[in-house]
Amino acid sequence: MTRPALILHGGAGDIRRENISLELEVEMRSALRRAAAQAWNILVKGGAALDAVESAVCAMEDAPQFNAGRGSVLNAAGQFVMDASIMDGRNGAAGALASVLRLKNPICAARAVMESGKVVFMQGPSAEQFAAARGCELVDGSYFYTERRWNSWLKLRGAGDVRLDHSSPGQTADAGAEGHGTVGAVALDASGNLAAATSTGGMTNNLPGRIGDSAQNGAGTWARNGVCAVSCTGTGESFIRANAAHDLAARLEYGRQEPEAAGRAVLETVARYGGEGGLIALTAAGAPLLLCNSAGMYRAMPDADGRILTAIFADEQLS
Ligand code: ASP
Repeated sequence: MTRPALILHGGAGDIRRENISLELEVEMRSALRRAAAQAWNILVKGGAALDAVESAVCAMEDAPQFNAGRGSVLNAAGQFVMDASIMDGRNGAAGALASVLRLKNPICAARAVMESGKVVFMQGPSAEQFAAARGCELVDGSYFYTERRWNSWLKLRGAGDVRLDHSSPGQTADAGAEGHGTVGAVALDASGNLAAATSTGGMTNNLPGRIGDSAQNGAGTWARNGVCAVSCTGTGESFIRANAAHDLAARLEYGRQEPEAAGRAVLETVARYGGEGGLIALTAAGAPLLLCNSAGMYRAMPDADGRILTAIFADEQLS
């Protein structure tokens, strides 16, 4: 039997101690803990890695603190547009969705796409209908409205700028966290199976029609038994160009690199392509990797006793 393992992220960006209020910090840590506890419960009962990552991401999609599902940011047209992807390390089955507007939980819909066995990647209203026909809940656009996101968007719209959800203009309290984060999870279950999932509302004020890395297996999400499970967050364009999640897997599998060196090399490529962000990964042996080249990344992981540890700032240890 394998010892289960789990890591969650809630997005990366310009998250600094001086631009996040204590109140928001507490809120983010407890939202991370709740999502991790729910998923960990599945794993300790012998449940599947795939169910655990879906459950963690689903919980974060339902929490308004994160830029996914309920708390999604607005694009330049003032719409909430979401992307998500999931991958099963057992067999390389994958499901992904781009540009959906009405799915309450895009990650459940990505799983429905995967389990249909017909297609891997769908987008827009047809994807919504396809998922709804398989039991996924549709909601009205107003479900995604939160005052915080609206205010962030108004500021960026005025500035004609596009930002990572955690990198907002100004450095006032919570400026680095107004957007909160894209979410992701990686898990290893007691049977030794790996899975990864990622879900996002994209980047604040991004171009209508733009699709980020979170919708793309290979760029934002990857899992293969015997190698690793990966979920990325950050400037989607750079993660796509780096094919970041799969590059990490390739470095481990073919390059035989150490996880930390491989992860740093991936983020160097992302930086070379002008991006910032982070990644979480678990190797087949359950070794955790949590790295970012931005000022912070919301992250959580259960320790050996099942206590959920969290960290936010890049220089912070999990505790
Ligand atoms: N990677 C996401 C995107 O580009 C954004 C993020 O991770 O915050 O859509």
